Amino acid sequence: MTTLTNLTRAPEIGANSYLLRSGSASVLLDAGMHPRMEGWAATPLLDSLPKDLDAVILSHAHHDHAGALPLVTRACPHTKVWMTSATAALSEPLLHNSVNVMTRQRRETLQQEYPLYTHRGVDDCVLIWETVPLQRPLTVAGSDFRFLLHDAGHVLGSALTEIRVGEKRALYTGDLNLARQTLMIPCRPPEGPWDTVIMETTRGAQPTPTAQSRDSLENDLLEAIRQTFARGGSVLMPVFALGKTQEMLTLLHHARMDGRLPPTTIYIGGLGRVLTEVYDRQRSLAPRQHASFKILPEVRPETFDPRRLTTLRPKAGQIYLVSSGMMTPHTTSHTLARLFFPRENDSIFFVGFTEPSSPAGILRTAGRGGAVDWGDPHGPLPIRCEIRHFDLTAHATREDLADWICTQARPKKLFLVHGDPEAQEWFRQTLALRRPEMIIQQPPPGQPVPLFP
Ligand SMILES: [Zn+2]
Ligand SMILES: [Zn+2]
Repeated sequence: MTTLTNLTRAPEIGANSYLLRSGSASVLLDAGMHPRMEGWAATPLLDSLPKDLDAVILSHAHHDHAGALPLVTRACPHTKVWMTSATAALSEPLLHNSVNVMTRQRRETLQQEYPLYTHRGVDDCVLIWETVPLQRPLTVAGSDFRFLLHDAGHVLGSALTEIRVGEKRALYTGDLNLARQTLMIPCRPPEGPWDTVIMETTRGAQPTPTAQSRDSLENDLLEAIRQTFARGGSVLMPVFALGKTQEMLTLLHHARMDGRLPPTTIYIGGLGRVLTEVYDRQRSLAPRQHASFKILPEVRPETFDPRRLTTLRPKAGQIYLVSSGMMTPHTTSHTLARLFFPRENDSIFFVGFTEPSSPAGILRTAGRGGAVDWGDPHGPLPIRCEIRHFDLTAHATREDLADWICTQARPKKLFLVHGDPEAQEWFRQTLALRRPEMIIQQPPPGQPVPLFP
């Protein structure tokens, strides 16, 4: 029997990691780190890993899927590690950045557990990575496991993992997007019906307005930026260094070229620049729109130096595209936002997912005219700048995912993962009504369950 063990500690967007076992063979799907927990509580259930793990397959380079990989390869030194070449090129600088962040956290929070791994540990981990092209079969010696990667349309290099065991077929979605972004092309999942689908549920608690289209959202964002500039303001956009930075640079550049935006100086962070270089180098190796477009030489963004934060006065017509997207304390977007709060002409625009309990989520809820409590000693900070959200998502909408499950994937069994409890609950209720013959499970942490129906 083939089993799936959910190594994420709770039903949430946490440390994504799923262990597959068939006979004596074992393969791990993703090795994520929880974006908001600290220390060992942020890691997957590493104690459940078999010492003789055969392989790890990484779906993409985001921290919640890749951040614990050096811990897994340290615990299981003989494992293979498979990923696309873009995921490898993006994960290496991201993991080294995680070491820097953990080292800083050790100083600032006296969290003695940090860093959970070192630069040397990342280097040792990278040495054993094997990059694999999309659609090339992967086998595990001495087992009947077969794997195939397919493009997932989420960020550069992101992949769906097709799992075959004998005649049975399962699909792990990782993070996927079924609609276009500015750079990424829509995911076209391989044909169903599947025996089993393991599906992300990020947006399950977010209904999508029927009138909302990518074009209208992009136009709304550009109009809001023009209005900010017209009143002499500047714009802060908190973004993830991987994915949203490159999407926004491309969108803003095209708008600047065709006159929908006036000339503007765009600032990005240092990590954002490093990852954008990877997008340029890998532009024809991984599925992407504008495959000949080199972002850095065309868009010419300035690199923001965090040492300037104390003396900075944002000027009219500037855009700060800096991380983190969730405005985590001590990040550039978190610190820079405090300069924007009192300035009526300025704007803070969110362009992606903001977890409600994160500083970004708290700021969105407070809005202009409100006050944000980020734990400052002087109490909540009043907000006079404009605050808006434009839902330029990198994840499939819940409506698109539900339609895909019911009309194309048509699995006998569906595992709901990578979503908060209310998000998973929407999918459970909606899909139980639309496809009553399907088994729907939320895999319990740490307990093996049969992968196939
Ligand atoms: Zn992701
Ligand atoms: Zn994710």
